[in-house]
Amino acid sequence: MHLLQVDALTKRYGHETLALNEISFDVRPGEFVAIIGPSGAGKSTLLRCLNRLIDISSGQVHFDGVNVSSLRGTALRRQRTQIGMIFQHYNLVNRLSVIENVLHGRLGYKGTFEGILGLYNEQEKQEAVRIIESVGLGEQIYKRCDQLSGGQKQRVGIARALVQQPKMLLCDEPIASLDPNSSKIIMDTLREINQNLGITVLVNLHQVDVALRYADRVIGIKRGQLVFDGDPNLITDQQ
Ligand code: ADP
Ligand code: ADP
Repeated sequence: MHLLQVDALTKRYGHETLALNEISFDVRPGEFVAIIGPSGAGKSTLLRCLNRLIDISSGQVHFDGVNVSSLRGTALRRQRTQIGMIFQHYNLVNRLSVIENVLHGRLGYKGTFEGILGLYNEQEKQEAVRIIESVGLGEQIYKRCDQLSGGQKQRVGIARALVQQPKMLLCDEPIASLDPNSSKIIMDTLREINQNLGITVLVNLHQVDVALRYADRVIGIKRGQLVFDGDPNLITDQQ
């Protein structure tokens, strides 16, 4: 049984840009997949199509048996809570605290406002605290996000995704803005989440060496086409 099935996925921006050209692949539950390719290859577009942050031009995406490509409204929002999203630039609300940002994940990114803590009961807050501690931010729970380092901000991003209890994490260049030390912490954290919680991980990376070190499987994309799909050890320089 596949968790994710992508069939002939095509995405155009306007008339000129064919960002993805009939991409097909399947992902099994629990896989850790790196998507690699040069800048502009279509990696980010691919992840955004998978959880329908953007509309698909043609083809189909099935997630856990549901045809994501045809979902609308409430059904689409419900579906998105099963897929956590992590971004290069973190996409946090900087003036809010760590725990406020993490609880914000439970709302499915609907609006941002102060007073968010009041919306949650003690049990929900304790669960958020537990997740924040699990990503190593136990000392920063009530700190504003604009006081954190890049690596710490990305850990908030991961905690915010985890609070939704997703089946899959989509990580769009999660370490592209980080120094090597923070990058290692973030990649190790993603790998632990994958191994300990069984959450499927798809991660866009432009650093091939990192992909080779962490992923079970690598998907290579070039100019919107899938050019490689397999064991990281089988990648050659030509790809
Ligand atoms: P990558 O993540 O591999 O760097 P992207 O998915 O960001 O690649 O981009 C793939 C192609 O689609 C590029 O040619 C890019 O310029 C184009 N593109 C991405 N987003 C948009 C957009 N919102 N509007 C128009 N073109 C876009
Ligand atoms: P990243 O470096 O995080 O991949 P980009 O700089 O490629 O981000 O893109 C940032 C934003 O600009 C994205 O929302 C993307 O959709 C949009 N974008 C990228 N390329 C184009 C383009 N050619 N035309 C319009 N929007 C674009």
